[in-house]
Amino acid sequence: MKSLGIGLIGTGYMGKCHALAWNAVAPTFGDVARPRLVHLGEANEALARSKATELGFARASGDWRRVVEDPEVDLVSITTPNQFHAEMAIAALTAGKHVWCEKPMATSLADATAMLEAAEASGKVAALGYNYIQNPATRHMRRLIADGAIGTVNHVRVEMDEDFMADAAAPFGWKSEAASGYGALDDFAVHPLSLLTILVGPLASVVVDMAKPYAERPLASGGSRAVETHDIANILFRLQSGASGSLLVNRSAWGRKGRIAIQIFGSEGSLLYDQERMNELQLFQARGPAAEQGFRTILTGTVHPPYDRFIPAPGHGLGFNDLKVIEARELMRRIAGEPAHLIEFATGLRIERTVHAMARSHETRGWVDID
Ligand code: NAD
Repeated sequence: MKSLGIGLIGTGYMGKCHALAWNAVAPTFGDVARPRLVHLGEANEALARSKATELGFARASGDWRRVVEDPEVDLVSITTPNQFHAEMAIAALTAGKHVWCEKPMATSLADATAMLEAAEASGKVAALGYNYIQNPATRHMRRLIADGAIGTVNHVRVEMDEDFMADAAAPFGWKSEAASGYGALDDFAVHPLSLLTILVGPLASVVVDMAKPYAERPLASGGSRAVETHDIANILFRLQSGASGSLLVNRSAWGRKGRIAIQIFGSEGSLLYDQERMNELQLFQARGPAAEQGFRTILTGTVHPPYDRFIPAPGHGLGFNDLKVIEARELMRRIAGEPAHLIEFATGLRIERTVHAMARSHETRGWVDID
């Protein structure tokens, strides 16, 4: 495959993560041409230029449209705040570029639908940044479930918590604006939804209660502004398979740093995983003498692909940024026409439908079917 020309829009937390992945994917996997870091876009020229130097991009623009229009760019990484995803992704696809867009897909169902339509019309690859499905540990869980290691899944419990918005004195930012979406649903719930989709299949119905721990937050310029999004969501659901479940998300949870705690219960065993201990999973199988049964901790290693591409030693552990490197490799596989483990726009739209059904449930105080 010829070397891909990369455009990147946004260089915050996720922009840096994408840039590191594009720099690392060829040396890590050793089987693809090194992508060319062609053009970086930021909110202004000065920031764009300094970030291009830092992250290794040849050109820089304070106008993202220059990135999308650049004839040497084959793929655009979109890592800007949620409210920009739709416009940027549609422009990139219309210009004939592949797209790697951060989650959530969009802030409205109409935008997400238009994004899928643009992807289908372009014939280009359009994928979303659902990196947690790339972890060798969660991939192994998927294999264990498919192989019947815990029997038929009948119940799932997921909790996603972080504390970056736990401090009432934390300043008002874009994540508290209604323009960014509903809050914890778009910011957090979509990640567990990507994992559930891969591990146990999609949701069929939901009932949801959302909460705002703080009614207002201080403005950096002085004074305060009313918080427009919900930081907490409590969700009960039914999977399409019929299994029951719950998903609890909270981005104001003091002490929790990167928790995505999953418990999957089946007719013959259980599986546990927590992103805060991302290099291990726990398996219980109701087999053998009862006196010797218990959870086994499995540390990921070279037998859990693609761990071996990073380190030859088991149990030493991958990190969060490595998941983006794996996602970049999957994206390149997909562009080359090979099978790939990715959440593309069609599945992404299904996740968005689920999120909007959750918001409707909160408003109507009742169960909502998805679709
Ligand atoms: P951030 O605030 O750290 O970075 C956003 C960047 O976009 C900033 O550098 C900002 O200057 C730039 N930007 C804003 N408007 C722009 C414009 N018009 N043109 C060009 N650049 C512009 O935000 P973040 O935490 O990196 O989040 C970005 C996206 O990544 C969000 O959609 C978020 O949901 C997603 N995200 C995903 C994960 C994950 O695990 N996949 C983790 C964090 C964030």
